[in-house]
Amino acid sequence: MTNAMAAGARTDLVQPAIRPPVGLGDNEGWRAGAQCAQSEPDEFFPDRCRPENVRAAKEVCHRCPVAAECLEYALGAAEPFGVWGGKTPRERRRMRSGRPIPGAAGD
Ligand code: SF4
Repeated sequence: MTNAMAAGARTDLVQPAIRPPVGLGDNEGWRAGAQCAQSEPDEFFPDRCRPENVRAAKEVCHRCPVAAECLEYALGAAEPFGVWGGKTPRERRRMRSGRPIPGAAGD
């Protein structure tokens, strides 16, 4: 099982398989509120994060009360795979680089 699959199982959000790096401000409490805990892991970790492949995951994230914390964690940890906080790896790379996300409000 790869790290991505371990995270994708989303059981990590309750019992994290991947521990966040120390010092990134992740208090882990947010994981208890994860809406994806009952979702299909493949929705969050598709082989390719094309829009049509991540639509269902993004809808779950959109309703998630801890999306901001999740995204903060993923950005801080430079998570290379999957949808976190409603953002794909490509979107997170753009956010980290300061480039706008195509299709995002304000673009
Ligand atoms: S924002 Fe999305 S990936 Fe993050 S915990 Fe919520 S549902 Fe899961």
